[in-house]
Amino acid sequence: MITDFHRSCQPTTARRGFTLVELLVVIAIIGTLVALLLPAVQSARAAARRTKCASNLRQVGLAMGQFCDAHKGRFPETSHNDSNDEQLSWIYTIAPFMESVDSVRICPDDPKAAERLAEKLTSYVMNAYLTDEAGSGSVTNRNKLQSVSKTLVAYEIASQKAATIENDHLHNHGWFTPLTVARKEVLDKIRADAAIERHAGVSHFLYADWRVESVDSDAVSEWAATQTPTNNFCLPK
Ligand SMILES: [Zn+2]
Ligand SMILES: [Zn+2]
Repeated sequence: MITDFHRSCQPTTARRGFTLVELLVVIAIIGTLVALLLPAVQSARAAARRTKCASNLRQVGLAMGQFCDAHKGRFPETSHNDSNDEQLSWIYTIAPFMESVDSVRICPDDPKAAERLAEKLTSYVMNAYLTDEAGSGSVTNRNKLQSVSKTLVAYEIASQKAATIENDHLHNHGWFTPLTVARKEVLDKIRADAAIERHAGVSHFLYADWRVESVDSDAVSEWAATQTPTNNFCLPK
């Protein structure tokens, strides 16, 4: 028959393509795999940024340690009482003790990272009690601290704080006052100045023994609710 004849004439290795349904199934499988892997990739990247931030602050601590050693224990000054006309952020005071200040002064999760980088600022804020801004509560010399391991040196700046030289330091000695405590405004005050949940609910604190702690925002909320003007985590110990 004609059909049989035609069939026998067909090459034996006839190419068979994908049907539309098969193609759609493959696309659906790839889509599902990407959807499953994407959160893992994103959280791996977030973890890398968090690690980079902690490492930045550790290097800031090591440089500040050398600065203090070279200045009989004195902590660096902020723009508040910096007499230089240049008006540089406090971080540049310790820059000579670092390999590259530009590679450590910015938190990769700071929404104003690019601006702060361009304006020669930093994502890290010094505890005002270690400058002479806090008056009689200030301890400006590391050698005069009773407990370096309990004294806060720096924390992460709040995302909404503008990238301006005035914000190279913040007035955290105003967080715990009789009024803010009585009005239960301490946590609001802290949040206005500090990023307390920048890295998936935690942020980094540098202490005067130059160790960096990842502090949960729940812990900071607890401190805000229970501590007092005369006994709180900002005071030099
Ligand atoms: Zn000031
Ligand atoms: Zn950070």
